[in-house]
Amino acid sequence: MHLADIITLRPQPGGAIFFGLTRRCPLLCRHCSTASLMSSEQHEAGLFTRFADTFTPEDHPELVLMTGGEPLLRPQLVTAIARRARRAGARSALISGMFFAREERVPDRIAEAIASVDHFVASIDIFHEEQVSRAAVFAVLGRLLESGKDVSVQAVGLDDADPYLEDITRDVRETFDGRVPMLVAQVGAAGRAADWLSAPGGGVHTLNLPAALPCDMAAWPTIAYDGTVLACCNQDVIDRRGPEHLRLGHIGEDGWPEIRRRLTRSPLLRAVRTLGPQPLARRAGAPTDAGFCGTCMGFSERPEVARQASDLVAGEAFEVMEQTVERLQVEAGPTVFALRHGSPRYAGLVTLGHREEARS
Ligand code: SF4
Repeated sequence: MHLADIITLRPQPGGAIFFGLTRRCPLLCRHCSTASLMSSEQHEAGLFTRFADTFTPEDHPELVLMTGGEPLLRPQLVTAIARRARRAGARSALISGMFFAREERVPDRIAEAIASVDHFVASIDIFHEEQVSRAAVFAVLGRLLESGKDVSVQAVGLDDADPYLEDITRDVRETFDGRVPMLVAQVGAAGRAADWLSAPGGGVHTLNLPAALPCDMAAWPTIAYDGTVLACCNQDVIDRRGPEHLRLGHIGEDGWPEIRRRLTRSPLLRAVRTLGPQPLARRAGAPTDAGFCGTCMGFSERPEVARQASDLVAGEAFEVMEQTVERLQVEAGPTVFALRHGSPRYAGLVTLGHREEARS
């Protein structure tokens, strides 16, 4: 599964789900958005596998994305979830900081976990390189590529002009002969980066675009480390386990069908995905000056916004508008997604090695 195929699913409500398998990580990167330590929270594996057991051939996300912390601290859990996803007809992917690349050989359980997923994302940036060398990461990536694994690189820099980004993107292209796609973004002021980065760069919405902008991030639920399910992957939302209108349930009590139903039927979430938070707030007479996500996060305190969303989705034209917005986002393609959420300068790198690119 190519990175471009993953991104194409992004606007589809319930097209994928993030599993935050652990908050723990053995690396101490200065920019870590989850402020992970080896003593950070981690909950029992059964919580996650029992939820994956609720995927069925008739009702499952298309993709399961495993993150952390460092998900490969729990390689057997990664394998167990990937197998359950596949059994139901879903595919799976994994993002890793590749601590294990420092070893001479990849431990068997980690190799097995990587083999079990359909796509492997390596997180490489100047901060990771202080912990794990680029040469070590490239050596593992090269072997995975040779074995036929679909891999990609996720890199972050301070901004588009960051010389590190120019260097790493050139090096990845040259070393792997243009076969490894890259999603390049900016460091957000979250987690450990909040201590030294004051600008609100990065995050899930990075471009200063017109206010009437649908939120495609409200399409994939995120399971936090303790099993709480949130409607988006905004780190503030994950850390706060809310606000209330973005909380979809808990995997200890709810299976995939309930989570998908809440995600796709909530009038507030449908309005946020279709109009965006600020136009919705404006229609309800609520303030919009807290920015894109800030406006959305205030909605639990604003019952008039929930009422406005209910009226809106009950209207005859809404469903057509909702489907049109989703279709337009899919048709815009993965590069437009990367332009909106990542680094505009490097947006085109998400399709490197993709079959569509190879045909053109
Ligand atoms: S607008 Fe709301 S739903 Fe969308 S990413 Fe921001 S907080 Fe999450």
